[in-house]
Amino acid sequence: MDIAEAAVVGAGPIGLEMGVALKRAGLNYIHLEAKQIGNTISWYPHQVRFFSSPERIAICGVPLHTVDQAKASREEYLAYLRGIVEQFELEVRTYERVTKITKGDNSFKLKTEKQGGGKQEYQARNVILAIGDMHWPRMLNIPGEDMEHVDHYFDEPHKYFRQELLIVGGKNSAVEAAIRCCRLGAKVSLSYRGEKFNPESIKYWLLPEIEMLVKTGKIKFYPNTEPVEIRGQDVSLLDVKRKKIITMGADFVLLITGYVADMKLFELAGAELEPESRAPVVNIETMESSVPGLFVAGTVAAGTQKNYRLFIENCHVHVAKIIKKITGTMISNSVINPLALEEMPES
Ligand code: NAP
Repeated sequence: MDIAEAAVVGAGPIGLEMGVALKRAGLNYIHLEAKQIGNTISWYPHQVRFFSSPERIAICGVPLHTVDQAKASREEYLAYLRGIVEQFELEVRTYERVTKITKGDNSFKLKTEKQGGGKQEYQARNVILAIGDMHWPRMLNIPGEDMEHVDHYFDEPHKYFRQELLIVGGKNSAVEAAIRCCRLGAKVSLSYRGEKFNPESIKYWLLPEIEMLVKTGKIKFYPNTEPVEIRGQDVSLLDVKRKKIITMGADFVLLITGYVADMKLFELAGAELEPESRAPVVNIETMESSVPGLFVAGTVAAGTQKNYRLFIENCHVHVAKIIKKITGTMISNSVINPLALEEMPES
């Protein structure tokens, strides 16, 4: 079996940026993706706009323009990523999931399963896991969570028009969903386990809007509550302060309670993980994990994030660090992103 210099797992923005950097460095690499390129972004709500400015999420030095110079929408960014794949003629083996990584003496063995059947094996001297940090929704493990009218993903607001919609959660995704659905004509209730919205964890343009919609009664707000059961169209919320159950009717329930990372591949490869976040332990200069030759790129470097610190925009630098370690040479900024070698704060 041919041994590739590197295998990149994951084809989100940072995985694609990694692929382009490897290609430009002249290295023979394999690129594997369990689903479609930009998979996490593909389940973002329709027409949602990134919080990050376009130049911060642009990759490979290719400018990201939007029609009105606003922040890029989900649709614009997915189109941009498709353009990157075509422009750089990237060979991404999509719908091919890596199921096992094992370390040998001088290389790694990767086993994959293709969607619809078919297994493959590859060998590579280095493996770069750029698999993102949002694999599954954070489950509440309450009765009724799996019912048809209950969802962890807010994709398309239209279905909630003139419906009683209960949203659970109190940070950016839940608040943005509540504002959009209310404006669209849904009858929105918002259950949050906190006392009030935390200005530190909600974007400054969303906060006054949600507060105004709550104050004017357009959104019914249930602070200090947690759902304990969904039974038919009834939802039971526990008021944790008053120790009382509130039962309310809801045609639809959106549990927007965050996401968790899947660290299975790191575990299979024998990488050391932090106890709580399950973030891989890495050498910050090289992004190499505790397993020599196994690298981490992108937001998965933070494991399951509670207080978000890694975003696309401050992960470009991982690509430069990994290329430097694998090739021994520093690559030009323009190969990755004009901002890539700076640690960027969140915009
Ligand atoms: P998040 O920040 O993890 O928030 C999860 C929410 O669910 C929090 O309010 C949390 O409560 C609540 N929660 C968690 N477990 C719960 C439980 N067991 N019972 C009840 N409530 C529970 O997730 P997110 O809002 O989806 O944001 C994820 C990331 O995406 C963030 O970086 C965010 O800024 C980003 N984002 C970007 C965009 C955009 O670019 N347009 C839009 C939305 C989000 P606590 O507050 O008490 O922790």
